[in-house]
Amino acid sequence: MKILYGIMLLFVALITACATSITGRRQLMIVSEDSAIAASKEAYVEMLRPYAEKGDIDNDPALKNRVYKITGRLIAQAIKIRPETKNWDWSIKIIDDPETVNAWAMAGGKMALYTGLVEKIKPSDDELAQVLGHEIGHALAKHSAEKMSVAMASQVGVMAVGIATKSDGLALTGASLAAALAIQMPNSRAAESEADRIGIELAAKAGYDPRAAVSLWQKMAIVGGKGPPEFLSTHPAPGNREKNLTSLIPQMMPYYEQKGIRPAYNLN
Ligand SMILES: [Zn+2]
Repeated sequence: MKILYGIMLLFVALITACATSITGRRQLMIVSEDSAIAASKEAYVEMLRPYAEKGDIDNDPALKNRVYKITGRLIAQAIKIRPETKNWDWSIKIIDDPETVNAWAMAGGKMALYTGLVEKIKPSDDELAQVLGHEIGHALAKHSAEKMSVAMASQVGVMAVGIATKSDGLALTGASLAAALAIQMPNSRAAESEADRIGIELAAKAGYDPRAAVSLWQKMAIVGGKGPPEFLSTHPAPGNREKNLTSLIPQMMPYYEQKGIRPAYNLN
């Protein structure tokens, strides 16, 4: 009886917690975006702390310049799509970890890029803009809040919280722990496609070649193998991803070819 009641409660929560993403997909939203942003603030500091203590953040001034410049231009476009995000405390940090081919974004635009992605993929600026645009896409489409909702709604999530508490030694609890875990959980195929779609548009509007989205994922597929979920997971199937991005190029080219100065958000 107790279990049945629990299931009913969860069911009600699921129905009332659905939201619609900016690309029109239905999302499970038990955790509001505002609470995801608050939790992510704490989780971000905590995730970066071990690297900061070793002096492994933003070490290479040339790379920092390059990444901040591209990200600043992408954020300026993100703010045009969702104006309220101008109040976000946007941030990107470059983690000095040459073995990890990864990047992630938390709610509220808290992002990280690992030097391994730059060293192993050797992206052009146009390709790097696709990576960072994709991450901003996750943040704009509230994917952190969605994954936190899934984690909190599922037994697996509760178990994962238990395991992470033991193994990772993160000094986080509750929603902040869920926020830290969310970036380690793979995104759904639908969420990945959404981030691709938003990312290529932000990049084109910021003046980066949309054709680089295709060449980026081709390079990613070659590096492939095991790794963190965000960039080396098996989904979406690389062929589909390439096909979808290729089909978006014609509508993105006019943004890219627009003349004039591209605005930039100041990240410092
Ligand atoms: Zn992604």
